[in-house]
This record gives sequence, C-alpha cells and structure tokens, in this order.
Amino acid sequence: MAALPYTIVVGLEVHVQLLTESKLFCGCSTKFGAPPNTQTCPVCIGMPGVLPVMNAKAFALALKAAAALNCHIATFTKWDRKNYYYPDLPKGYQISQYDLPLCRDGWLDVPSEDEAEDRRIRIIRVHLEEDAGKSLHDEKAGRADSRIDLNRAGTPLLEIVTYPDIRSPAEAKTFLQELKLLLNYLEVSDCNMQEGSLRVDANINLHIPTPQGIAATPIVEVKNMNSFRAVEKALAYEAERQWGVFQETGRKLGEVPKQTRGWDEHAEVTRPQRSKEESSDYRYFPEPDLVPVTVTPEEIERVQASLGELPADLRRRLRRDYGLNAYDADVLVNQGRSTVHYFLRLADVCGDGKAAANWIQQDVLRVVHERQISITDFPIPPDTLGEVIRMVRGGRLDTPKGRQVFAHLLQHGGRPQEAVDALGFKDVDDAEVQALCRELVDANPKVVAEVRSGKEKALGSLVGQAKKRNPHVNPARVKEICLELIARM
Ligand code: ZN
Ligand code: MN
Repeated sequence: MAALPYTIVVGLEVHVQLLTESKLFCGCSTKFGAPPNTQTCPVCIGMPGVLPVMNAKAFALALKAAAALNCHIATFTKWDRKNYYYPDLPKGYQISQYDLPLCRDGWLDVPSEDEAEDRRIRIIRVHLEEDAGKSLHDEKAGRADSRIDLNRAGTPLLEIVTYPDIRSPAEAKTFLQELKLLLNYLEVSDCNMQEGSLRVDANINLHIPTPQGIAATPIVEVKNMNSFRAVEKALAYEAERQWGVFQETGRKLGEVPKQTRGWDEHAEVTRPQRSKEESSDYRYFPEPDLVPVTVTPEEIERVQASLGELPADLRRRLRRDYGLNAYDADVLVNQGRSTVHYFLRLADVCGDGKAAANWIQQDVLRVVHERQISITDFPIPPDTLGEVIRMVRGGRLDTPKGRQVFAHLLQHGGRPQEAVDALGFKDVDDAEVQALCRELVDANPKVVAEVRSGKEKALGSLVGQAKKRNPHVNPARVKEICLELIARM
C-alpha cells in the first residue's frame, strides 16, 4: 500500500449492553424484541418519588470487562446525573458516571495487518450507565407522528472510550472485532449490533506534515454506523473528505469547532448533524438517590484471577502447544470459547493439533454452519472424532474413508468401529500390504527408476495397481511403504 500524505487518527466511543436479565436500576426485563412499552415500570419511566436500586450483576460484569481491558479499577466509584432533554429520556437525565468512573487507563492489544507485533490501543475510561428509550419514526407505515418505546430505558450499558491510537479504518474494525470477541468470551455482552447491544461513535481527524509543522484537521465525530463494515467505510470516506477539504482550504484551517456527522449507509457519505453539546452543558451532578460503590483490592484481585484464558492467550497457546499457524489459531479462537474447547479435547485425543484444526474447519464447522447450531450441539463428541482421526493417522483409513465414517457417525451416531463395520471397510493387515508393495516394486523396475530419479509422482501407478488388487488398502500407506522399499534398494 502506498504511503498516505497524512496520518489518520481515530478514537472510538463504544457502548455495549451488559448481559443481564434485568435493567440497571429496576427489575424490568432487558429481553430484546418485546412489543413497545411492555417492559417498563415507574422507575424506568421516571415517575416522581421512585428510587433506583443498583443491579449487582451489572456491576460484576462491568468489573470483569474492566479487568480484562487491563484497566486501573477504582476502589470508590459513584453515580452522576447527566442532564439533557430528549423525548426518549423520561427522567430528563441519564444516570451515568462522570468524574469517578469505574475504571481508567487500560488497553487492548489487537492483531496488526502488517506488523508482526500486536498493536496496543489504549483505553481512557470505562464506565457504567443506563440506556435511553427509542424514538420510532414510522414514516413508511404512513404515520406522520413519532412514538416512544421505553423498553430499552434503563438497560445497563458499558461505555468504553479509547485514546486516539487507531491509525486506519481497517484497524478500527479490527479493534471492534477484538473487543466483541473479548466481551463474548467473558459473557459480558453479546455485542449484537443488529439488536443495538453494541453501538459505536468514532472521532477522526488527519495529521498532515507541512513545512510549518504538523497540521491537524478539525476532529469529526461520526455517528450512525450500523455494522463494523460501516465503521470501516465511514472512516475511509471521512479521511478522504477531510483530505479534500484540507487541499482546498490549504493551511487556513483556523479554529473550526468539532463537528458531528452521520453516516448515510445508502449514499455511502457522511453528512453534517447537529453539533454535540460540550460536557459542561450536561450539568452533571452526583446522583443523590444512589450510594457510591466501593470495591476492595481483594475483590479486584479475585475478578482478575477469575477471567480465565482470554482470546489473545488462547491464540498464543494454540500456536505454541499445538503447532498451529496464526491463521488456524485465529479461525478457531474467533469461533468462540466452545469451539476452542472442542479443539483442545480433539487434539488431545488424536494427538495431532494440525489434523484436529483441519477436521474442525473443513468438516465440523461446515455442518455447524449448515445446521445453524452451536458446536456444543454438534452430534459427534470430540472423543469419537478423535478416534476417527487416529484411524486415519495410523493408516487404518485413508482420508476419503475417514470422511465417510464421519458422515456415517453424523447420521447414525455410535462408535467409529461400528461405522467402519457398517460401511464394510475391511482392515488390511499391514504385513499383507507390505508383501503386496514388495511384489509391485519388484515387478515395475521402470517406475522404480523414475521415482529414484526424483519423479515421486510415478508412485501413482503403483498405488493404482495396489488398489486394483485390494480395494481396502490405504493409498497413503502403500505410498509410504513403496518409498521406503525403493530408498533401501
Ligand atoms: Zn423498570
Ligand atoms: Mn454514554
């Protein structure tokens, strides 16, 4: 890729919905997809006189995420009211955290495209807050009015703010994928963008070297991006747009205030939106109805110790202990924790990490995707499949027969030996194969000469003859024995 005449500087602000049954300050359900306003109560619709009570599960999940993001976790954290008026915010304020957030100063390492080392994206802060409701503008349904659905009001959110450490639209996407994977592993959030459980805003500007020093274009906050792909596209568009503006206006950038622009998915452009209020406009003040939360250093240690192996650790272990390459390790880890567990068991049973990874990617995951099931519901347990792979590795079955056994087990269940019997695959005694190979080698001096001159392909004719004589022989084994015999001649 040609070097750009500028550096792209991006910081992200991500909101993820925590995987709790109930809302942050009341007992209402957080289940997605219920009819509008059926999951509300006086607390989350902001009736006067009601009192919020903090959801302990939400706080525990937030702590887990904070620990996994390598943050400095505060032992004392409090709630604040963020005041603004909007129809979907019935109380007129959002309960959030302002000056004493849950945690600060963390980081997440993300795989880098062209550098061998991961790239470290630093995190400014992570805090808990409640979600607002949703405005419904059903112009398509022929309605001129707007309606409000408060089912989402009060849903627990984690807000994660990064430093402007991201250097390309692709890296922004990779960061989001890695964050999603991490939070999925921790069972902190499902990060489902379609259901609104992950939302992202991006701040972007360009740093441009000039004879007078580095010029910076005004920071633009991009909103309304509905997929990771949209984030990447919107940022790529915005970088080019800012470069165009810079070239037109030259160095007379002056003091342009921060702008807010929305991504138009269909036109694939960003358009100006109303500019964001400064944080002083929110008139933050401490929430008087909630007590501050204290966390002991022992609790923080306990949470850190309970995280288990995270995606980055697992990738490393699969490469180091199971001999996988970066690509295979990535594919397995990105499938989620249960796929990794299936792999670990399978590799241990069959004794070959690479073979286990291949069978999972080519056979197991194909079925999992076709049937749209989770790997935990995959009908062949890793111990059984491991036995099949052992048979293939040991030469009892060749790969096509191994696949037939796999298909049989998929349909009928049972043990590998039962499948082998049902399919009529006879074991050929290795001594018998050896005798056959000796005969063939002796009878085909021309082929042997070709092989000796380096044309290993010529072996195909011996394998073909062997299969004609005994259809149950394993071609790989025949090849192996013939090579050995020829090498010893
Ligand atoms: Zn409620
Ligand atoms: Mn927020």
